[in-house]
Amino acid sequence: MAPDVDVLAALKLARGANGRQSLSTVMSTLLPARLAKYVADKHGASGHLADMSDKVLVRVVNAVSDWAIKPAGTEGYRTAEVTLGGIDTRDLDSKSMEAKAVPGLYFIGECVDVTGWLGGYNFQWAWASGHAAGSAV
Ligand SMILES: Cc1cc2nc3c(=O)[nH]c(=O)nc-3n(C[C@H](O)[C@H](O)[C@H](O)COP(=O)(O)OP(=O)(O)OC[C@H]3O[C@@H](n4cnc5c(N)ncnc54)[C@H](O)[C@@H]3O)c2cc1C
Repeated sequence: MAPDVDVLAALKLARGANGRQSLSTVMSTLLPARLAKYVADKHGASGHLADMSDKVLVRVVNAVSDWAIKPAGTEGYRTAEVTLGGIDTRDLDSKSMEAKAVPGLYFIGECVDVTGWLGGYNFQWAWASGHAAGSAV
């Protein structure tokens, strides 16, 4: 978070200028206020800046600058929008979508092992491969 800011320098500067401020007040100029308070509280930095050692500031800064998210899981098929896996593209002719091993058999779209980012690429693939196969047939 706050990728373009030297957070440690900003906190040290604020500590020198007005040590009676709370760390979360200063951090709220860099992050949303509730998030700033959460980070400060979580790292035991809820008092005045003047009372905080460099060690405490570094701990907070690490939490901000090296913030990591570990997903707890997925929402499963209920909200799934695209599938991985399927018929190997190496077994299909890339222009006609015809199976190399079985002339006259075509595969397109979702059943082929092609997976796009969300945002229209899967529709594009389904339609484009369908068009290619339809034209070939
Ligand atoms: C909730 C959701 C949101 C999505 N949003 C996006 C998006 O925003 N942008 C994007 O690019 N992609 C999106 N996708 C992915 C996209 O919809 C698919 O990649 C695309 O529709 C695949 O097209 P398709 O024709 O290959 O397969 P499908 O659209 O799945 O069509 C297969 C058809 O075959 C029929 N069928 C199955 N078995 C048989 C059978 N035995 N006999 C006869 N018919 C059969 C099915 O009923 C179905 O109509 C989304 C998917 C989901 C589920």
